Amino acid sequence: MQKTQTIILGAGLCGLSTAFHLRQDYLLLEKKSKVGGLAGSEVISGFLFDCTGHWLHIRNEKVRSLVASLMPNGFDTIARKAKIYLHGRMTDYPFQANLFGLRPQVLRECLRGAVEAALLRERIKKPALKSFLDYVRFHFGEGIAKFFIIPYNTKIFGVHPSEITSEWTQRFVPVPDIFQIIDGALGFSNEAMGYNATFMYPKEGGIQALSDAFFQRLDACRIMFRTAPSAISLKERFVEFGGERVKFDFLVSTIPLPELVMLTVDAPATIRSEARRLRSSPLRYINVALKVEKPLGGAHWIYVPEAHYPFYRVGSASNVSRGVALPGFSSLYVELANDRIVGEREALSALSAFLKEIGTIKDDKEIEFAVFREYTHGYVLYDRHCARARRKIIDFYRDNNIFCVGRYGGWQYGSMEDAIVEGMEVAWLIKQTG
Ligand SMILES: Cc1cc2nc3c(=O)[nH]c(=O)nc-3n(C[C@H](O)[C@H](O)[C@H](O)COP(=O)(O)OP(=O)(O)OC[C@H]3O[C@@H](n4cnc5c(N)ncnc54)[C@H](O)[C@@H]3O)c2cc1C
Repeated sequence: MQKTQTIILGAGLCGLSTAFHLRQDYLLLEKKSKVGGLAGSEVISGFLFDCTGHWLHIRNEKVRSLVASLMPNGFDTIARKAKIYLHGRMTDYPFQANLFGLRPQVLRECLRGAVEAALLRERIKKPALKSFLDYVRFHFGEGIAKFFIIPYNTKIFGVHPSEITSEWTQRFVPVPDIFQIIDGALGFSNEAMGYNATFMYPKEGGIQALSDAFFQRLDACRIMFRTAPSAISLKERFVEFGGERVKFDFLVSTIPLPELVMLTVDAPATIRSEARRLRSSPLRYINVALKVEKPLGGAHWIYVPEAHYPFYRVGSASNVSRGVALPGFSSLYVELANDRIVGEREALSALSAFLKEIGTIKDDKEIEFAVFREYTHGYVLYDRHCARARRKIIDFYRDNNIFCVGRYGGWQYGSMEDAIVEGMEVAWLIKQTG
């Protein structure tokens, strides 16, 4: 049986970063025919589409210099233009900090709720916030929860915010204080708030360019495409694929955690039963080409919380980077809701109505094409079982020198930067131990 020190499963950013930092004695297995995973792009009739929107925001200086060395002068830095469309009004993102422009009754309900919540926070310093819903009500109040956060998140996760916890929110949900909320309601803009107020995007080639930049620095002989494991053994320490078995000392798995457990022939029953508890919402979206130059009033993306639209966000990569669409055209990505699954025809007719309503198109003929895409996993559901089940499984594998990392490998709500950092860290750990 052949042997390699480390086998890496999956050539998304996490697997690529692991391989890049290990440099030697690894084998990288990828089930698709190219690298990138979620951070990959596809070309459809001359238009370049990422997997919905993929904007790079970097906090870690090591990642910043790594990315700069991989792609010198390869990125534009862009100030986010994100909007919310509610009851026919367009307001700035984040909703909770930019209430100005909402219908008066809605604005009043949001503001009153926010003031009540602020008063409550004065009295209760250590609240027991079990669910995401508790968290939202406590920090933003009833109105903001009712008009934006509950409907929007129900669409993404496919379940009510009372079913999920708030452990993923810290970085992703901006929490303005009451003075910022009041300022935002009066029209003093809080537009630049939140983790992605500015972001980086490749000058050319879509987000695939970043994944390709890693790939170009790897030893091509160590990567096998269109290759997925059929079995993994902890005790005999092998990965089986294409009828062969290769032994390993370390395994780095970036493939979805439940799948890793299913493939592990000698996983204990307790771990299998924990894996059955892990839930996620799927990712369903539409790649659209339009015969208009600047859709969505120039916004990069628009949040659409109202339940009667079967999508929760509509974005335009060509509003960020002109080169992704053909001259005279533009592109959209439309992220479909998971609480009410509609067929393609209904989704398209709702999209067309929405685009007409906001003045992007006048006629359906301006929709050049629309291509639907679907992935099994989009967002991990942080329900009441998730933290415990995830911890048990990951610790179990860790004890066997198997590292479960990345967005679905580590079963978490992470960014591209997180995936790169985890790859860096796991490579360092292997080098220390190996
Ligand atoms: C809709 C959406 C939008 C996002 N937008 C942003 C954004 O704007 N900015 C940002 O920073 N982050 C964003 N993210 C998060 C970001 O995409 C991920 O955190 C990051 O790309 C994850 O990288 P990864 O390598 O962990 O996982 P993946 O990209 O999922 O890579 C896993 C790889 O494993 C392969 N694989 C799967 N199963 C097998 C198998 N059995 N055998 C072999 N290979 C297998 C897959 O083909 C894939 O290549 C977004 C995520 C989603 C879902």
